[in-house]
Amino acid sequence: MISIYDSRTRRLVPLTPLKPGHVRIYTCGITPYDHSHLGHARPAVVWDVIRRHLRRRGYLVTFVQNFTDIDDKIIQRAEASGESAGAVADRYIEEYRRFMRRLRVRPPDYEPRVTQHIAPIIEYIQALIAANAAYVADGDVYFRVRLDPEYGTLSGRTLDDMVEGARVAVEPGKEYAGDFALWKKARPGEPSWESPWGPGRPGWHIECSVMSHCYLGPQFDLHGGGLDLIFPHHENERAQSRAYSHQEPVAVWVHSGLITRGAVKMSKSLNNGVTLAELFDRYDPAVVRLYLLSVHYRSPLDYDERHLAEWQTAVDRLVRLWHEVKEAPPPGAVVQEDWAQSLTHFEERFLGDLDEDFNTARALGAVFDMVKAAYRAFARGYRDWASGVARRNLLVANEILDFLPQVESHDGDGDGAAVVRALVQARDEARSRRDYGLADALRRVLVDAGYEVLDTKDGTRVRRRVSI
Ligand SMILES: [Zn+2]
Repeated sequence: MISIYDSRTRRLVPLTPLKPGHVRIYTCGITPYDHSHLGHARPAVVWDVIRRHLRRRGYLVTFVQNFTDIDDKIIQRAEASGESAGAVADRYIEEYRRFMRRLRVRPPDYEPRVTQHIAPIIEYIQALIAANAAYVADGDVYFRVRLDPEYGTLSGRTLDDMVEGARVAVEPGKEYAGDFALWKKARPGEPSWESPWGPGRPGWHIECSVMSHCYLGPQFDLHGGGLDLIFPHHENERAQSRAYSHQEPVAVWVHSGLITRGAVKMSKSLNNGVTLAELFDRYDPAVVRLYLLSVHYRSPLDYDERHLAEWQTAVDRLVRLWHEVKEAPPPGAVVQEDWAQSLTHFEERFLGDLDEDFNTARALGAVFDMVKAAYRAFARGYRDWASGVARRNLLVANEILDFLPQVESHDGDGDGAAVVRALVQARDEARSRRDYGLADALRRVLVDAGYEVLDTKDGTRVRRRVSI
């Protein structure tokens, strides 16, 4: 039985899919207006692990994650660079996907974009107006928050708090300061779409109600997002969906903790973020992945680069054991000794930890206990048996956490390897001359050819991605 913490009811609830055997999930994706950073990576990795665990437990999973590809920040970025908003969004979506692949995050089943769902958004808003849940004010359309007695219960706020907390400007035409825009009248020069209320574009919240409805229907199982989205985004989304379908749209609201740096939220506006490009220059993406999973997904993660260095050592330890046992045959008779428990009972403990609100921190603890027990078994003379068990256990863990090399050394296989060796050597020479421009260009050539490129104290190390 899998239990999950539900932000709305504020308790652990058992997972009971609305359609038996099928877990349907929507999470709020990125607004692509700048480079991908650690704050994007955390929810992506967390949801990748949740999906893999659900599949491991036999569920069919449908996972939808949107792109907010029209937004004030995208428009500002486009104005600054002289591009179209679409070109800006395309570029950063492409970058995001590339980095997610390197983090071994499997792509969502659907990745809807707002700008490709304008027609259903307009129809949805029309239905809300017809139901008296929304009203038109001079080209804008607003949602009436006071109509829903449940409004505020997801984020645990009263209407007064919300109006105060959001510092909502009283705009002309709004009936109530807490009402929010479903449709925004176009300002001159902005991208806009025709609508029954004149040219404009959708507000932020409506897209998630509409796109979740398009792909998952009026009710689905899990809704994800960062903790900072509970209010106003998810509160508003829930109110829209309830007004539209007269049903509670989401069975369990799942919010992941934010990344802080020195206890301050990491954010673009504070300029204290870390881009994935910077991190991947120094660390294997698999190290970043396990580092993000080392803290329970609901807890804040306080970024400290020293922890990443520790995780590099930890991952090296896992990979070293893997290389020792990867050829081992299946284990023979079970060794029934107390010291062998972490090996023999690994799978049930590991999966059991993940069953309890996807506790990856504890599941990783089980992995390292298992590694310790394997070396203890080697020392006691049980190498053959323990190698077979450790091999199987590492594969069980890897199916969900995905940290083992997907990779082989470039050494010694064919013409391609010679080219790669030459590129690596040229890059090391460029670096020793401090010609970082050339070194960087060569790194990009290697990355584009499908290699992980790592800077180590012994020079460039590359590993090709192949399946194990
Ligand atoms: Zn959303």
